[in-house]
Amino acid sequence: MKLGDTHNRIARYLRIGVTDRCNLRCRYCMPAEGIDFAHRDDILSYEEIIRLAKVFSDLGVDKVRLTGGEPFMRKDIDVLLRSLSDVFAKVHITTNATLFSDHINLLKEIEISGLNISIDSLDRDRFFMITRRDSYALVMKNILDCIKNGIPTKLNIVVMKGVNDMEIIDFVRFGMEHNVEVRFIEAMPFNDDDGNRDVYMPATEIAEMIAGEFPSLQKLVADGSSSEKYTINGKQTVGIIPAYSRSLCSSCDRIRLTPQGELLNCLYAQTGTNLLAMVRDEKVSDGDIQQAIVDSVILKKRSGLEEEALIDKNAFRSMTTIGG
Ligand code: SAM
Ligand code: SF4
Repeated sequence: MKLGDTHNRIARYLRIGVTDRCNLRCRYCMPAEGIDFAHRDDILSYEEIIRLAKVFSDLGVDKVRLTGGEPFMRKDIDVLLRSLSDVFAKVHITTNATLFSDHINLLKEIEISGLNISIDSLDRDRFFMITRRDSYALVMKNILDCIKNGIPTKLNIVVMKGVNDMEIIDFVRFGMEHNVEVRFIEAMPFNDDDGNRDVYMPATEIAEMIAGEFPSLQKLVADGSSSEKYTINGKQTVGIIPAYSRSLCSSCDRIRLTPQGELLNCLYAQTGTNLLAMVRDEKVSDGDIQQAIVDSVILKKRSGLEEEALIDKNAFRSMTTIGG
């Protein structure tokens, strides 16, 4: 069985937010004081995640990404990673790379398919200003360790005009020097007061800036991923993620499971299907869950713009609660 919607897309890629907690406080993501974090009892247990993972796998999902919050904040994450790597062909993680020094061997052992590491500045003071934590040296050390250990690593940079856009070219050069793909993400405004609207820099402008320095920049044919891909000199790959301009929705194959077990069809979807209630109801079978997932995904809207139009503007939203 496949997970189709009415716009001819098949969902094959599940992003699981394993926690809404995080040890950083990136300005574009969370307020300095944190958020009203979910209670432990209200988030999916590992057993529940694995049961759901098998149902998704039976429905044709073959790629999973652990995200959050910070996935490595979750206790014994190794247990979950091992189990998921038995279920899915491709297991990826998005992380801030502050907490996994002890996990590098495990990532090698399970042959992790990809690690996306977030780093928004190559300058210690600016990193601190953005994340509100002085973790630059640790993150950089872990990035270099991952590269040295042959872990397939990409870097995620949320671009903010006037804050870190002056580092775009430095990041491209860093990618060239270390043979690693860098991906620039448009900052997404989620709430009126998160300031992201003021610093928003569109994907087109990011590409123009890179082309200004590297005239051989060439856009590649879309490959169905969340980023527009470019090459420089046919060698270095650079990605630009139009997270807010949403120009790639027509090929989206992603669905999301929040820490609280809600299945969302889109980063901009405010409501979805409550799978936590289903896994905790002993009268509900895997077949029932499978049907609920099929019925949910078929309702996926054509684009994130359509989803956004339905959002209650007064409700607080953050990537950390959705599983960014
Ligand atoms: N803590 C992990 C990390 O930072 O990589 C995983 C969770 S984080 C929510 C996932 C990704 O979402 C990161 O690359 C982060 O930079 C990005 N992100 C968070 N809030 C965002 C926003 N408002 N706009 C664009 N990207 C955002
Ligand atoms: Fe934490 Fe990631 Fe959000 Fe930064 S972007 S506060 S590291 S969840």
